[in-house]
Amino acid sequence: MQGVALLGSTGSIGASTLAVLRRHPDRFRLVALTAGRNAAALAAQVAEWRPAYAALAQGGPDAGFPAGHDAVLAAATHPDAQIVVNAVVGAAGLAATLAALRAGKRVALANKESLVTAGDLVRQAAEAGGGELVPVDSEHSAVLQCLVGHGVPPSRLVLTASGGPFREWEAARVRAATVAEALRHPTWRMGAKITVDSATLANKALELIEAHHLFGLGYDALEAVVHPQSIVHALVEFCDGSVLAQVGFPTMELPILYALTHPHRLPDAGVPRFDPVAAGTLTFEPIRRDTFRAFDLGLAAGRAGGTAPAVFNAANEVAVAAFLAGGIPFGRIPEIIGATLDAHDVRPLDDLAAVHAADAWARRRAGEEAGVPC
Ligand code: MG
Repeated sequence: MQGVALLGSTGSIGASTLAVLRRHPDRFRLVALTAGRNAAALAAQVAEWRPAYAALAQGGPDAGFPAGHDAVLAAATHPDAQIVVNAVVGAAGLAATLAALRAGKRVALANKESLVTAGDLVRQAAEAGGGELVPVDSEHSAVLQCLVGHGVPPSRLVLTASGGPFREWEAARVRAATVAEALRHPTWRMGAKITVDSATLANKALELIEAHHLFGLGYDALEAVVHPQSIVHALVEFCDGSVLAQVGFPTMELPILYALTHPHRLPDAGVPRFDPVAAGTLTFEPIRRDTFRAFDLGLAAGRAGGTAPAVFNAANEVAVAAFLAGGIPFGRIPEIIGATLDAHDVRPLDDLAAVHAADAWARRRAGEEAGVPC
């Protein structure tokens, strides 16, 4: 029986995690829950699961739960939790990842921003505290599953991208896309932020940076390819040229379950069984980098290292929030990211203060670019 702390319980990954836990009551016990600001949804989950601890990241004195930064960290380091599922959205998830790893927990990481903004600090925290990082992101789960048991490092990783809702659109039409159009993802049901990131292809750049830190490969050995069916989740090449892939119908419940059980597996009737005939024809095509500029901007930030990925991430968060609020057109998102990166002097990433300084600077600068107060 393992104790699980779930951070970000009322989002899409949170709901999928609870669905997985519901099917395995003999294996996992939910000991702590945190949500962003939705006190009513958290109260409903507490009534069902009766965890030892529940908290809100943002909440007033009348929210009915402990609230704030320290309240979330208390969940991330809860003594009865062996596994912390970090499904917090955005850069806010980093402190919880660091605290849980320092406390020796397994962190099932759905918060890719932790690795993007501070990959070296995350690795140092795991080494210092004996914690373990296991990816929940479907592409990285696929890579991990292809690597387990081989005992040899990969020579190249190829992550797949659905291409998003604008894969076949003319560049001018993409620039003018509406919020409703951007949220109409062809294959995955996810939260609004990551769905827009999939439409701009910023998500795939974030995932290559994540893969760089998780699997220790340089950027020349990391690639992404558009695969509209979202059946093949990643390809792993070894030094002899042999390539392994992990396949399955798109569901986050399988990577979540695997992150809980790695390197072991549990039978699970809730995950859709794969049927290659039903999957149909599988196709692959290059990313249209001229149209989806956020991809190259993110990759360049990853290669630059230091504070650049944190600046890319923060500028993207500000631009996406402005787009979702109706403040800017879709085509402004990569422009705001690019202008913010151009104005940034890359610094080394020595500590959490350097991450926070770069993040705050980028939010201010991107907010000015977007014409929204920040
Ligand atoms: Mg992914």
